Amino acid sequence: PVPVLTIDGPSGSGKGTISRAVAARLGWHYLDSGALYRAVGLAASWADVDFSDHPSLVRCAFDTDIAFREDGEREPRILVNGVDVTDELRTETAGAAASAIAAVPEVRAALRERQRGFRRPPGLVADGRDMGTVIFPDAPYKVFLTASAEERAARRYKQLKDKGVSVNLDSLLREILARDARDAQRTVAPLRPAEDAVLIDTTGIPVEEVVERVLSLLPD
Ligand code: C5P
Repeated sequence: PVPVLTIDGPSGSGKGTISRAVAARLGWHYLDSGALYRAVGLAASWADVDFSDHPSLVRCAFDTDIAFREDGEREPRILVNGVDVTDELRTETAGAAASAIAAVPEVRAALRERQRGFRRPPGLVADGRDMGTVIFPDAPYKVFLTASAEERAARRYKQLKDKGVSVNLDSLLREILARDARDAQRTVAPLRPAEDAVLIDTTGIPVEEVVERVLSLLPD
């Protein structure tokens, strides 16, 4: 079977940065599953779908065209129904919409096979919340990243600031804690490490060091 490395954890734990770097080093494909949830949430808002209208949400999950386009050294661009929404998807509004629709079991089920479709040779690095527990339970390599809430808020703050988005650090921390609580308490796919995942706390650890630790889990 095609090897998969799952990297799960809360928002701001460094998943995206670490996963992309590891995928680049291995020459493997990369699945940003959070972007799929964000994209479906956005498509649903575009179509004025009420988040309590589950059948329509499921249709969005199946029908929304989501494309990842490589952009050299930079993060890939994300196109939803042909529109470049890379920056829009990163806002807390998009994160909150993603978190809301991600709590709907039928939406998660609709995205399941789509996510598994990213498993192609020579290998896949899958970034998300339930990659190691639900989507790729048979993955030979599993990592769960954590970091203190303060550090995660500070990282998100810097990310947004670099993009020219002005935000308030305190409100960002509050939003992150609220989303964490919702993600951890929801009965549908609560955030938890797979039993066979290696836990890595990234608080205060430079990106390159975390990347090396993750790579050290794989055979040469
Ligand atoms: O990782 P990211 O912050 O982009 O994810 C946005 C939201 O999508 C999360 O807060 C979570 O509720 C949901 N999500 C999920 N399962 C995944 C990826 C994301 O439920 N595999």
